Amino acid sequence: MEKIGFIGLGNMGAPMARNLLRAGHALQVHDLSEPAMRALAEDGAQPCASAAQAVAGVQCVITMLPASRHVEQLYLADGLLAQIPADALVLDCSTIAPQSARRVAQAAQERGLTLLDAPVSGGTAGAAAGTLTFIVGGSEQGLARARPILEKMGKNIFHAGGSGAGQVAKICNNMLLGILMAGTSEALALGVANGLDPKVLSDIIAKSSGRNWATEVYNPWPGVMENVPAAKGYAGGFGVDLMLKDLGLAAEAALATGATTPLGELARNLYSLHSAAGHGQEDFSGIVQMLQRRR
Ligand code: NAD
Repeated sequence: MEKIGFIGLGNMGAPMARNLLRAGHALQVHDLSEPAMRALAEDGAQPCASAAQAVAGVQCVITMLPASRHVEQLYLADGLLAQIPADALVLDCSTIAPQSARRVAQAAQERGLTLLDAPVSGGTAGAAAGTLTFIVGGSEQGLARARPILEKMGKNIFHAGGSGAGQVAKICNNMLLGILMAGTSEALALGVANGLDPKVLSDIIAKSSGRNWATEVYNPWPGVMENVPAAKGYAGGFGVDLMLKDLGLAAEAALATGATTPLGELARNLYSLHSAAGHGQEDFSGIVQMLQRRR
């Protein structure tokens, strides 16, 4: 079974890496955070002081980093591509700009490496349960090699197209998610302000035409569901600033092609105000707090 170098052990990377360990892969892990590495070491991974050490002698490299600049810095500016063994497969699961994904894939190809963009959907619960959706951009042959590894972390694997296509699809999905979470929050706040129980309203929406993932799986209203960020003061989960990054990527993609995304832009502005009010590190479902009636 492949030895894997895993870099980026945050809210998503750590549970994904744990599933690979459980499946029997040897893992060399690296993160800028010592505690993040220690936690994985307790589960049997080999902690590495540098990214270069983490990729030494591996057959596959996986990165799960916050944004484009981290991915470009690591692979290109810091020269990690030059340290990766020649026959290794490289999977970047971070959500980044499609043009960044294409740049690193091109640089990898020039070194004879196959690099796929493989961003994920399904949140931290999906990462822990091994039920993520992988949205892959790159060659068919690369995906065929990646599939057995991705299947240990996810349930659905889609081939969106060539390099960067996985990121385009992911950005479209997350723009819609941002809009749906804000809209769901607005509907629940309206119902509660008019005397409804948020749980009863959520149950009604879940069986009516307004149904969506934000209401049914990741409800933003505290007390409606257990084991969601709303039940934990919006700790963990998918940070407001990460959602803001994705809505910014959607805006850039729209500008680049002349597409119109008025609701995406409105959602971006809402999350931007929420972040500016000090909630950037909290889960994005906390946007409901902006809409709750204060009096
Ligand atoms: P996170 O901020 O929790 O984790 C990122 C980790 O990367 C941190 O531990 C950080 O220390 C580490 N890191 C940053 N630069 C590094 C470097 N140069 N070398 C080594 N480690 C480095 O973020 P997350 O929530 O795990 O998200 C990761 C990616 O997945 C993002 O692109 C995000 O948009 C995407 N994503 C997140 C979710 C979610 O629900 N959290 C869902 C789908 C996709």
